[in-house]
Amino acid sequence: MNSFLLKGVNEIPGIGASKSDVLFSELGIKSVFDLLQSYPFRYVDRTQVHDMQADFLDGDYVQFKGKLSSLQTIGVGHTKRLSAKLIGENGSIDLVWFRSIPFLEKTLKPGESYLVFGRINNFKGRLSIPHPEMELEGPKSHAIESHFVPIYPNTEKLTKKGLDSRARSKIIRDLLSRLTPSDFPEFLPEYIRKTYLLPSFSDTIQRIHFPKNNDEINSAKRRIKFEELFFMQLGLLKNQVNHLQKVKGNIFEKLSPYFLEFYNHHLPFPLTNAQKKVLKEIRSDLAKGVQMNRLLQGDVGSGKTIVAFLTMLMALDNGFQACLLAPTEILANQHFISISEYASKINLKVELLTGSIRGKRRKAILEELEQGQISILIGTHAILEDSVIFQNLGLAITDEQHRFGVAQRAKLWQKAKPLPPHVLVMTATPIPRTLAMTLYGDLDISIIDEMPPGRKDILTSVKYEGHRTEVLRFIKAQIDQGRQIYVVYPLIEESEKMDLEDLQRGYDFLERFFPPPQYHMSMLHGKMKSEDKDAAMERFVQGQTHIMVATTVIEVGVNVPNASVMIIENAERFGLSALHQLRGRVGRGADQSYCILMSSHKVSKDGKERLKTMVATNNGFEIAEVDLRLRGPGALDGLKQSGLPELKMADLSQDTAILTTARDLCKQILEKDPQLTLPIHAPLIQYFRTFKDKSHFGVV
Ligand code: ADP
Ligand code: MG
Repeated sequence: MNSFLLKGVNEIPGIGASKSDVLFSELGIKSVFDLLQSYPFRYVDRTQVHDMQADFLDGDYVQFKGKLSSLQTIGVGHTKRLSAKLIGENGSIDLVWFRSIPFLEKTLKPGESYLVFGRINNFKGRLSIPHPEMELEGPKSHAIESHFVPIYPNTEKLTKKGLDSRARSKIIRDLLSRLTPSDFPEFLPEYIRKTYLLPSFSDTIQRIHFPKNNDEINSAKRRIKFEELFFMQLGLLKNQVNHLQKVKGNIFEKLSPYFLEFYNHHLPFPLTNAQKKVLKEIRSDLAKGVQMNRLLQGDVGSGKTIVAFLTMLMALDNGFQACLLAPTEILANQHFISISEYASKINLKVELLTGSIRGKRRKAILEELEQGQISILIGTHAILEDSVIFQNLGLAITDEQHRFGVAQRAKLWQKAKPLPPHVLVMTATPIPRTLAMTLYGDLDISIIDEMPPGRKDILTSVKYEGHRTEVLRFIKAQIDQGRQIYVVYPLIEESEKMDLEDLQRGYDFLERFFPPPQYHMSMLHGKMKSEDKDAAMERFVQGQTHIMVATTVIEVGVNVPNASVMIIENAERFGLSALHQLRGRVGRGADQSYCILMSSHKVSKDGKERLKTMVATNNGFEIAEVDLRLRGPGALDGLKQSGLPELKMADLSQDTAILTTARDLCKQILEKDPQLTLPIHAPLIQYFRTFKDKSHFGVV
């Protein structure tokens, strides 16, 4: 690779310090190589000549053929401009110039035929082309030689510095004309390029900027996407290999006294095949002598809790303690209740530690924990505090982990000595495969893709204000059958006060139809004191209240099998993953459950598609795929901060096939050559050395 490519763009003739500053601030371009890798986002086909009578929008790129009229200079000083008309077969269009007027007056030839290219300016319906590219029509037109004009992203600052799309295209063209193929690096080994029919890097760069035809554009794009996804996956998987070689873990071999006893005599229901498969995967991890890092994905209600409990028993059987972290007190409580119930069957001591447990109670728990009398600790972030010391922590399970940051995970690690705890991360947020491979590429992934038997699909419908009475009647009928109802209002952080008013109004409205003493209602929102929240939730769990009016605080994990109706107000305001999570609160018992999405008539196109998707499917993975398509990977809940790598061209919501191919290839490579020491893999190592800064992958 020519070392010039790694130099700053300011080394390019004609680009000084101030231009290079703007290239960096606007586009993140530092080196010559960055500039070459700043790709056009589209092309204008110059084989096409447009009809002047067609409809054009402001900013459209157009090419017209016509005769140039006489030139006119208008205005003086600042406002001075040169204007002319291009007269075509069936119309004319204004051309206007603000700069280089004397030069243009000398060179333009009124009366001659020109091929004119530029961007339409639509000023109150009057069309003109400012600063068009003018070419005398003839056999050697530039336009005929190079059919596609690259269009690069542009900003006002770039334009001011003379670095707009056209200017940058010229800089890149000049640059490429001075470079030969051997000046370019080639990070993809030849055998890979042959297998996947990918052009060389130097051809790719030439084609992506100045393609001769559509095939060239497509092959260049394919190579760029492939390369991006390939190195991203190689980095992640290489880390995993390094991890396997470096991070030792405790070996959990024994399955008694607890696991087998519980499994053979106290299991409350037969496990689904999916649960069994996942347990096998976990068991094999725990016997390897390498620290486990596993993501357990399973839709709401798929039965992750029992898997978590059985995994804890494996730790306990081998003399270790286990802990389970939940993101909220309510959830920690629920886990505590279900796990305690299981644990009581085999006389195990489980404790709960949350922020609201203080004083003597807390002190006692901490002591017993340190002395090893507590086998299983369940709690919130409170578990991470320094004062919480385990005797020998062997397993940490986190529920809905994307709410735990990296620093917090590190804290958990420090609590186990000398070897780190095995980690099982549970999530009910289905993540599309492409994203999971990217975000958690260095975790092993287990998926519970089967619901416990007897579960009926939740029936979902969209209702509008006009259906209000019908909905109330439906609620009443359900309550009369002994069911319980959730009514959820959206909560938007900026206007918390207003939302609470909405909530109160909703509550009052419902209370008129369901008055005490015949009916009981509770309210739940984030601003309530934790005791009040717990009490309200507890009454609902116990079946003492019929209707729970709440904000999204009930979103995650809460389990009330007797609740069979979920009504979501202003459903059009919720994102898909939130809607899916909320709906997952019902359908947990044997009864037919319902989800009613109350919508206003004013719904955006995306909003409509969200509601339609919810009605069409109960499958969380399908919903996540739609969500990804609608919002793009960056916007998915909770994923924003999780360090999605920046991709220049590949799109995680579209390029699944390339990603899968690249990932499989990386696996094959690392199986054969885990340290990438074979000579044919030298370019791969070279890549990571060259782009050290891209190594949140931290490979070399
Ligand atoms: P989640 O994956 O959402 O955490 P849970 O673990 O809370 O799901 O399980 C949801 C419900 O399904 C619970 O009531 C649980 O007891 C029940 N359940 C879990 N696994 C099975 C199974 N294999 N057969 C029958 N019921 C099950
Ligand atoms: Mg759960």
